[in-house]
Amino acid sequence: MSCDLTWLLLKPGRSIRPRAERDRPVEWYPCTTHAVLVETEAGRLLWDTSCPRDWESRWEPTGLQEFFPYDQVAEGQYLDSRLQQLGVEPGSIDYVVLSHLHFDHAGNLAMFKGTGARLVCSAKEKDWAFGYEGAFNGAHLKADYEEHSFETVDGDAEFLPGVTLIEAPGHTPGTMAMRVDLPETGTMIFTSDAVYMGDSYGPPATPAAIVNDLSAWYASVEKIRDLAVSTEATVVFGHDAAQLHAMRRAPEGCYA
Ligand SMILES: [Zn+2]
Repeated sequence: MSCDLTWLLLKPGRSIRPRAERDRPVEWYPCTTHAVLVETEAGRLLWDTSCPRDWESRWEPTGLQEFFPYDQVAEGQYLDSRLQQLGVEPGSIDYVVLSHLHFDHAGNLAMFKGTGARLVCSAKEKDWAFGYEGAFNGAHLKADYEEHSFETVDGDAEFLPGVTLIEAPGHTPGTMAMRVDLPETGTMIFTSDAVYMGDSYGPPATPAAIVNDLSAWYASVEKIRDLAVSTEATVVFGHDAAQLHAMRRAPEGCYA
């Protein structure tokens, strides 16, 4: 997507202007989204599903299409194209785990309808996402997920061998991060939107415009930081364009 950076980062000097720059326009940011395919001995897991091809019409009731246009996507970058490039049929994916159910993470669940893939999110996220009245609330859009049934997880637990789901609420009530322990690379922590970008992580942590619970958000960032320090992890942020572009990505690259 792309958007006004102020959504992602309330940072004086970058998104919040000093008086000398009061007339300078805000930064329009290339807000990358990603999904992560994890191969384990106990099954194949997809972490998040990014945005849908029909974003403009689907998001229309919410107005989000004007703030987060998904309009700089090459044909080969859509989730269905990427899976095809990897030779991965949606039906060969055992688990689709959603870090949370926002429109830019749960946008492609329709791809897995009837495939046998088990959809997973946190219990708190499910309760919240199905618990409000109306078609959408903030960046939750029922059209993305209401036709699907979800298995839920609670707390921090190893989900598959080497894959641990971590409660990291604040951004939404049930946001999760994912820890993956790899034989050569070591530990990778995918923060999703618990931490948007390197500038959010700091230290000090810098919050964003969309935060459900600010004190929970700060605590989750420090929880991830403590885990990252103790495991010497590579921390991969939810929407950090510079970081994502510097990483190995499908279909050419992967981490082992
Ligand atoms: Zn997001």
